Amino acid sequence: MTERAGSKLVYLADVVTLRLDPEKCTGCRMCATVCPRGVWAFADKKAVISERDACIECGACARNCADGAISVQTGVGCANAIINSYFSKNKGVCCG
Ligand code: SF4
Ligand code: SF4
Repeated sequence: MTERAGSKLVYLADVVTLRLDPEKCTGCRMCATVCPRGVWAFADKKAVISERDACIECGACARNCADGAISVQTGVGCANAIINSYFSKNKGVCCG
């Protein structure tokens, strides 16, 4: 059985760099505690990525995972938003 941690909000489909190494996860739940987007769930007392496309690549989970089970390339989402805004009418959009 899987327990979801939060919302179903999504950012961009299939572009997120978030990765989890389940072998390193000790199930401390810190990732779910700090994640602002409800990306994390738990199954068999270990973290699972339940809402990958909701991730905004803030990096909080990776910074707070003492076991080094998480990797994410922070800032990519911001770069995409800035580039997209440059080529659209909605100039000036930023997530910083
Ligand atoms: S913070 Fe790291 S070790 Fe703790 S539950 Fe999340 S992935 Fe597992
Ligand atoms: S990078 Fe941020 S939004 Fe993405 S899973 Fe980690 S804490 Fe959640």
